[in-house]
Amino acid sequence: VTLSRDRYDIVVVGAGALGLASAYHLSRECTGETILVVDALKGPGEGSTGASAAMVRDVFSSSDNRSLAGDSIAFYRSIQSGGVDLGLDLYGYLWMLPQDLLHRYHSLATKNQRIAVRPIQLADMDSCPGLNIAPSGELAELVKVPDIVGGLFGSNCGAVAPEKLARFYHDEAAGFGVETVFGKCVTRLSFEGGDSLTLDSAGQRPFSYQEHIPDRVRISRVRFDDGTSVAAGTVIVAAGAWANQLLDPIGFASWCSARRRQLFALGGTDVEALLDWSGPTDASGNSSPRGCPFIILPTGAYIKPLKSSRRIWLGFSDHAGRRIGTEERIEDGGLTYNPLALGEKEFLATDVMPMVAPYFPCLERANYVSGWGGYFNYSPDGLPWLEQEYGIVFVGGDSGSGVMKADSIGRLVAASYRGKKQTSLFAGTTYDLSRLSVKHRHVEPEEINL
Ligand SMILES: Cc1cc2nc3c(=O)[nH]c(=O)nc-3n(C[C@H](O)[C@H](O)[C@H](O)COP(=O)(O)OP(=O)(O)OC[C@H]3O[C@@H](n4cnc5c(N)ncnc54)[C@H](O)[C@@H]3O)c2cc1C
Repeated sequence: VTLSRDRYDIVVVGAGALGLASAYHLSRECTGETILVVDALKGPGEGSTGASAAMVRDVFSSSDNRSLAGDSIAFYRSIQSGGVDLGLDLYGYLWMLPQDLLHRYHSLATKNQRIAVRPIQLADMDSCPGLNIAPSGELAELVKVPDIVGGLFGSNCGAVAPEKLARFYHDEAAGFGVETVFGKCVTRLSFEGGDSLTLDSAGQRPFSYQEHIPDRVRISRVRFDDGTSVAAGTVIVAAGAWANQLLDPIGFASWCSARRRQLFALGGTDVEALLDWSGPTDASGNSSPRGCPFIILPTGAYIKPLKSSRRIWLGFSDHAGRRIGTEERIEDGGLTYNPLALGEKEFLATDVMPMVAPYFPCLERANYVSGWGGYFNYSPDGLPWLEQEYGIVFVGGDSGSGVMKADSIGRLVAASYRGKKQTSLFAGTTYDLSRLSVKHRHVEPEEINL
């Protein structure tokens, strides 16, 4: 694939939700600048974005997350009500909670008046087909699952279609002149080619004394797996789980690590009954207008309803004992990412089902349809990272919630490129960029994690 130029003002590595939202906002705010988006895969959003459950929520304990996700959801709503189908469907999140989380979650989630959230009594969930709130028996004993004593319902929560969201940002950015290239893998970010920079010839490393000369040590060339390269004014690294493979070799610390998350599609009679559930009732006894919500169990496993395809997806992330990092190595000459190959049917049986079946015994009888896996870029405090150094703007650490925060993050990347200290998110929140940085980080850590 040949590029139309040999130098771009901005090269964005990664055409997932974060890279494309960044390209879109950069193209709107920096008219006249040449922008290239490059991705090793075949089309927009084919990395973890496409493999994701693509749920969206504004119910977070952290005010940072509430702003990043809440303002992004507001943007998605406005785009969809303007006639572009993003597959946005706000059918609600239902946390089914054990005693030790109930009061904590209620107070965390309700401390902000802007969040549409309400407590759920056990009686409000009575009608949920197949639900067992007080698991007993051998499996429940073994797993030591707690009883469900109540819940929390967020109504400004639901899902988008990730491929539609990626396509929207891609097409809009293209309309503003952004060039996008697929099937081209960036193998190295290189310091070579910068003005008056001297490099050690073996490692192409800048000598340390030059770091103290303002703006001299910058990445200025992007090298590809086909042997070609392009000059870049600034490189936006939005390479998701694979970012460290580009950043580690150049001494840029991302503070994130890739972890796997898997989804398993199930169907059958019991699944159909759950999908037809009208949702938890409200104080007046009315059921949810949008029917069966997204359900989060006390064990952390979750159930996504897909009403049109008559399936549910069970989801769970890697924890103790599961290796951090990606299977794919870009130095092997390309990204051979295949979400279906990362789905481990055995993991469903050995790890996920024991956390679901005590509450929904009927789902053990459900028909297995398929399973797949992707990565999320784990951040210890549950907030993204945005850092600018060496002519790079790095964005990552989505913590499994990058789709729902993509628009806000894209705005922050554009603001960072323009050297701004703060910017306005879609719904008007003023956000200070340094909150997400490595050196000046001052975020409120997240407590309502999935
Ligand atoms: C199973 C699962 C469920 C999830 N559920 C949710 C959810 O419900 N809600 C939510 O908000 N988030 C969810 N996430 C997380 C979400 O997928 C991520 O937050 C989001 O996709 C991050 O977007 P990204 O653009 O950073 O990453 P990606 O979409 O992975 O994009 C990175 C891109 O960079 C490209 N790339 C990487 N390295 C190179 C290179 N060297 N050269 C060229 N291209 C390169 C890749 O091909 C890829 O397309 C889930 C993730 C998984 C795996």
